Amino acid sequence: MICPNLGCGKTISAPTNSRGKIVRCPYCNAPFRVPEPRPQQDPNGR
Ligand SMILES: [Zn+2]
Repeated sequence: MICPNLGCGKTISAPTNSRGKIVRCPYCNAPFRVPEPRPQQDPNGR
C-alpha cells in the first residue's frame, strides 16, 4: 500500500496481522489505517 500522506507517498509493506489496525508510516510517521483485505473471487469462476 501507499502512504496516504501526499508529502510522503512511500510504498509501505505492512504485516498481515496489522490489517484493519492503525499503523504509522516509517518515513513520515503519519498514522493511518491499514485496509482490510477483500475476499478474492476467481474471475474464471472455477
Ligand atoms: Zn509516509
